[in-house]
Amino acid sequence: MIPYGKQSISQEDIDAVVDVLQSDWLTQGPKVPVFEEAIAEYCTANYSIAVNSATSALHIACLALGVGKGDLVWTSPISFVASANCALYCGARVDFVDIDLATGNMSVNELERKLIVAEQENRLPKAVIPVHLAGQSCDMQSIHKLAKKYGFKIIEDASHAIGAEYRNNKVGCCEFSDITVFSFHPVKIITSAEGGMAVTNDSALNATMKRLRSHGITNNPEEMTEPSHGPWYYQQIELGFNYRMTDLQAALGLSQLSKVDEFVADRNELALKYADSFGSKPLSHLTQLTECYSSYHLYILRLDDTHEHLHKHVIEELRRNGIASHLHYIPIHIQPYYKQMGFEENDFPNAIKYYQTAFTIPLHPQLSSPQQNFITDEIGKLL
Ligand SMILES: *Cc1c(COP(=O)(O)O)cnc(C)c1O
Repeated sequence: MIPYGKQSISQEDIDAVVDVLQSDWLTQGPKVPVFEEAIAEYCTANYSIAVNSATSALHIACLALGVGKGDLVWTSPISFVASANCALYCGARVDFVDIDLATGNMSVNELERKLIVAEQENRLPKAVIPVHLAGQSCDMQSIHKLAKKYGFKIIEDASHAIGAEYRNNKVGCCEFSDITVFSFHPVKIITSAEGGMAVTNDSALNATMKRLRSHGITNNPEEMTEPSHGPWYYQQIELGFNYRMTDLQAALGLSQLSKVDEFVADRNELALKYADSFGSKPLSHLTQLTECYSSYHLYILRLDDTHEHLHKHVIEELRRNGIASHLHYIPIHIQPYYKQMGFEENDFPNAIKYYQTAFTIPLHPQLSSPQQNFITDEIGKLL
């Protein structure tokens, strides 16, 4: 089976992990801060906080921004469930903003329309989590303008988008957001096995997220509320978690980071080749905006209306032929857990339309030319 995504692990990556295994520190050692600094520098942001997954990063990002009981958080229905679950962990409620069918990203027009109504009804969101689907940034400048007008915080779920650019800056520079979150799950652009990172320019958010990832404990005398008892002393000043990244993971992530631009360039090259080969088919790929450089975590196609009835057939047949076609994503609001909160299918019609037409085909740096030709040929035959 040709997988839809796959990690690329080099001998240098392996050596970096083995070095840590032979060192004094398997966790809470020197590699984690080095990886954090490297990510912050890469994204041109001030601070970054390494954690054991992007899900954990989203959770502590919400908490650091004060999301709690009685608050509302809005995100995109076309995402992995973690983008919404993080708000529920904080006791907040979730709502969704329908997507723009061309890009698959949160629609800014729809966001504005929903904000106008929410303001009248006095139920504006505390935070909005735009998701950079497949690695293409959302229209962050417009979302940021709305955040200033309506007073909400922004967490970019950039789980797909390390190495991507928006308006000539790296995604993660946080020019138009409070916090950006990356995932280093093996299927994403770079990997630390499991792992994630929150990035911010705000020193207070950085300090809070650093505490929350490790039990709410601080060793910094300036953060303590009582005098130190002695050199062994630490203080828990709030309720946190064990969301720490190990040094093994940080070493792998750091080694992978040195290849991120290469990985993203390879992905863009493969994506261009796909785009060229489907020109005459009843298909479209996600529209790429001129201000965006996608990291192409995923290659997503949508069937034209005339061929919508073939959707399931195409995915099944590709799989039968050894091509692991997938569907990113099942709209979150139709997951049973979300439906029982009262969401109905047609609350977000574009998300449903997307779900009835979209499918993912393999894209990763190790995809060979013959494999890519085989995939385009098979799709050609099916349509
Ligand atoms: C993968 C992913 C996550 C979760 O990442 P983990 O590191 O596996 O926790 C969150 N949001 C999106 C959009 C993702 O694709």
